[in-house]
Amino acid sequence: MTVEASYRPDHRTAEPKQFLHFIGGRFVSGGDCFANINPATGGIIGQVHAGGRTEVDAAVAAAKAALAGPWGKMTVAERSMLLHKVAAEITRRFEDFVEAEMADTGQPRSVMEHAFIPRGAENFGIFADLVKNVPTESFMTPTPDGAGALNYAIRVPKGVIGVICPWNAPLLLMTWKVAPALACGNTVVVKPSEETPATATLLAEVCAAVGIPDGVYNVVHGRGAGSAGEYLTTHSDVAAITFTGETTTGATIMRAAAYRIRDVSFELGGKNAGVVFADCDFDAAVDGIARATFINCGQVCLGTERVYVQRPIFERFVAALKARAEALTVGMPGDRTTTLGPLINHEHREKVLRYYKLALADGATVVTGGGIPQLPEELSGGSWIQPTIWTDLPGDSAVLREEIFGPCCHIAPFDSEDEAVTRANDTEYGLGTTIWTRDLARAHRVASRIEVGIAWVNSWFLRDLRTAFGGSKQSGIGREGGVHSLEFYTELRNICVKL
Ligand code: NAD
Repeated sequence: MTVEASYRPDHRTAEPKQFLHFIGGRFVSGGDCFANINPATGGIIGQVHAGGRTEVDAAVAAAKAALAGPWGKMTVAERSMLLHKVAAEITRRFEDFVEAEMADTGQPRSVMEHAFIPRGAENFGIFADLVKNVPTESFMTPTPDGAGALNYAIRVPKGVIGVICPWNAPLLLMTWKVAPALACGNTVVVKPSEETPATATLLAEVCAAVGIPDGVYNVVHGRGAGSAGEYLTTHSDVAAITFTGETTTGATIMRAAAYRIRDVSFELGGKNAGVVFADCDFDAAVDGIARATFINCGQVCLGTERVYVQRPIFERFVAALKARAEALTVGMPGDRTTTLGPLINHEHREKVLRYYKLALADGATVVTGGGIPQLPEELSGGSWIQPTIWTDLPGDSAVLREEIFGPCCHIAPFDSEDEAVTRANDTEYGLGTTIWTRDLARAHRVASRIEVGIAWVNSWFLRDLRTAFGGSKQSGIGREGGVHSLEFYTELRNICVKL
């Protein structure tokens, strides 16, 4: 591990960048390097330093030491003020974050500007406020001598939190964990996805600039198995692990967490259903399902890959969603006319194309798409794919049972409310659903019967960060958001005082 004097990535130059680790307040190189590829063009953005045991050990040691330093002695109000400064600095460097995340993910500027980057700042703001306003419980307990005892609880940080992140919304998903972890007084070691190292690195600059003490926010780049991810989740000084990613990776991390009995919070995969009743606001429903299926090129855990539409409006709905899919425009992420980005890499495109082939083999009618789009020269190296809609698949097709994570959905007709609920629940996943109807009584009924962590009615991805977020069944363990995050990132210590 070599300590570097400074690091200032300039995402607007053509110069290849070096994505360094950030350990104990310093950017350091270390480990083999691998190329970070721009999914829109196939060009090389820079070199990512892949951390090994040495870097993970150093980062965890720095994080542990920081708990005993100025960070550990700060009042909640002081920590809160610092986190508000982080939010303000992300906002001040908004364009740097937008450029970095566009290059890493290939997704359109509009998605960055209106969703992913503002949420990065907002995550810090909300938890900075929340942590100051959360009460704990107290009980007066009768005792035989009549004097009684007072029980009250305090919240204490857990310690060093291991944060393992995916690539589909890198800053948003990382800060969703880092912000509450820091608000509660923990320190963190972040392992960003190997596909998207940039904004975790930029956040290190932000933390340093606003005076977050050294060792509080650490980043070790690298891969998962046999690399930084595995070494972080198996490290004995990591008190708890918060992970967003695939369900199978979650299972591996859960086994790692069993060693020394660490707490886990898991946000995992989904195979979400959209349910559209004939009495819905038709245009709003088409808008909502189009967004839920195609935004971020379908790479959203809450995205809708199964759509159930009540029979009287089925044909009209299929035609309207087809028109939406065909109106999407591929192009350079920075171009304001671009509305559809690429998949994250060629390997993922191969996976999605395998499902496109399987749909044909299973008897699907392809309403639109099904392959790779015609591309201009500048995009020919990217991992582009056509938005795709199917009908007529049998319910047991793997296309309807496995998470594809691409810009595609299957639409099936249904007749009764009971049938819609049964089919929506016919999955091993349980993350989110989106229900479209003007009948409010039915909306409440259906929302309470679909087995998910989050049910949206006449909306999709409308988030209030104070609410619980997470999945049931194979889609996760635990809830984050609002006080639920504070519950995961603290130990509740009960103090009993005999009066
Ligand atoms: P992934 O599981 O392949 O990787 C996620 C992270 O885990 C990466 O940083 C990776 O390096 C690391 N990792 C991989 N193997 C590891 C191991 N053995 N030990 C430790 N770390 C390891 O997921 P992905 O492909 O990056 O992301 C897409 C998945 O994430 C999809 O399944 C999607 O549904 C899910 N997701 C869920 C939510 C949610 O909130 N429920 C949100 C976004 C994405």
